[in-house]
Amino acid sequence: MDKVKEMRLVLKNLPLEILSLADFDNLPDAVEDGATFEENALIKAKFFREQTRLACLADDSGLEVDALNGLPGVHSARFAGYHADDITNNQKLLDELKKIGVTESAAAYRCALAFVDTDGTELLTEGKISGKIKTVAQGSGGFGYDPYFYIDERRTMAQLSVDEKNLISHRGAALREMILKLKRRFR
Ligand code: IMP
Repeated sequence: MDKVKEMRLVLKNLPLEILSLADFDNLPDAVEDGATFEENALIKAKFFREQTRLACLADDSGLEVDALNGLPGVHSARFAGYHADDITNNQKLLDELKKIGVTESAAAYRCALAFVDTDGTELLTEGKISGKIKTVAQGSGGFGYDPYFYIDERRTMAQLSVDEKNLISHRGAALREMILKLKRRFR
């Protein structure tokens, strides 16, 4: 999972052993029915803390496109339906823009992180990056909507290395703020 790859890289210097959901067998899915990224991050962190009995850090994130009134938003992962993947989600994005005759629009990625400790203490952080969605794809890095998310006139998020992306991304910003909060808590 590319989200996990990005998160591991920023968190690598913390004196913690970091596991991901892939390290556990038979975990049920969390029901992400919150109305905001923050609510969904908290739902996931609390749910998997209960399931694993370990402190848990959850990310909920997505793309907001101005021309689509903020969609896909919290529905980013399943924009094209229940079995959506990056290809079908990106196609749905292009279809929705085509329907309204738009080839570029201001947009933003947002990320909410929730950490829930074993004693139930909650820490929350958020990050955002503004950019543009254009209907011409560029680059093969990153994941999700990255080939269509332009960070400037020339480059998309998919043309950056993981380190470069983390320096400017919504997730990188939320992670750095979370690290400060974790360091304060565990000092
Ligand atoms: P979540 O796993 O429910 O938080 O859904 C996140 C979804 O938002 C992903 O499946 C992507 O579609 C989109 N998304 C979030 N962050 C990024 C990013 O950094 N690049 C591209 N797409 C992203």
